[in-house]
Amino acid sequence: MKKIFAMLLQSGEHSDLTLMCKGREFKVHKAIVCTQSPIIDRMIKSKLKEAQTNTIEVKFELHILKCMLNYMYTTDYKVELPSTEENSKQEASAQPAANKRVQVFPTTAEVLLYHAHVNDIAEYYDVTDLAVLSAERIACLLQKPFSAETFCDFIEKTEGLTGDQNLQQKLTAIAASNIVALLEKDFFSTKEIGNNMASGVLQGVTKPFKAYQAKVIKLQGKLRAQDLEISRLTKSSLQLHENLDELVKVSTSTRACVKSSCMVRFGSIIEPPSQNLEGRWMIRCASCGCRYVYSQEKKAGVIAPPPAKA
Ligand SMILES: [Zn+2]
Repeated sequence: MKKIFAMLLQSGEHSDLTLMCKGREFKVHKAIVCTQSPIIDRMIKSKLKEAQTNTIEVKFELHILKCMLNYMYTTDYKVELPSTEENSKQEASAQPAANKRVQVFPTTAEVLLYHAHVNDIAEYYDVTDLAVLSAERIACLLQKPFSAETFCDFIEKTEGLTGDQNLQQKLTAIAASNIVALLEKDFFSTKEIGNNMASGVLQGVTKPFKAYQAKVIKLQGKLRAQDLEISRLTKSSLQLHENLDELVKVSTSTRACVKSSCMVRFGSIIEPPSQNLEGRWMIRCASCGCRYVYSQEKKAGVIAPPPAKA
């Protein structure tokens, strides 16, 4: 199908729309062009003279228009920089050479600029997919591998060229992730860097810091919670220590149960916290079951007073 469409573009057969560019005519098809460009579609459906004559004047470079048409007919475009002589030769033939390749070896800077012009025409005629594709190709070239010099050069040369927001966002993101190399090149003092881009780059750079800040705050919260837990555990271990110390003192210092009805030799049972409401280890007389506490004055265990009623 691609071949058929390419041939259709080359021959201009069954054309129902003419694009005029630098004095040359491009015979194209509304079904293909208008469905991909809402701008051209509107022009043709309007009351403008373009609608009556089915002719649209295009104010872009010839090879860039050819590029857009190639994309519309074949969903792809190639970087084909015409040299000065070949350019004039090519321009002499009315239809774009869909299959003709011009043998020049463009530099990375030239290729980048080429894609930027394609992005510009795509943005102008609202050919969304072509704008996305050209922006992707630019981003790809700028990133692998990143060169601050190439990047700065590209920004300088394309200042005010295309207003494609998607491309701007990509460029801003690339600048932000290569900020160190760009600062070495004095990137921010370049007058072509717009305010939007500069603030976008700064936002991109500060974003990870903000994320770190949020993490630090979260960690601080965790540490505070851990500190509280540690002091709670320290307190309860001290209490446990005192508690067990008392039990040892009672069991070693008490000879016999002091309860008058019992008075047997003091044998003790230890009751774990889970079995009483006070949450402490308790010591009781094994015979009568009364609870003992240590008395500092008597230096021995005494029967614990009954718990105060709430
Ligand atoms: Zn007893």
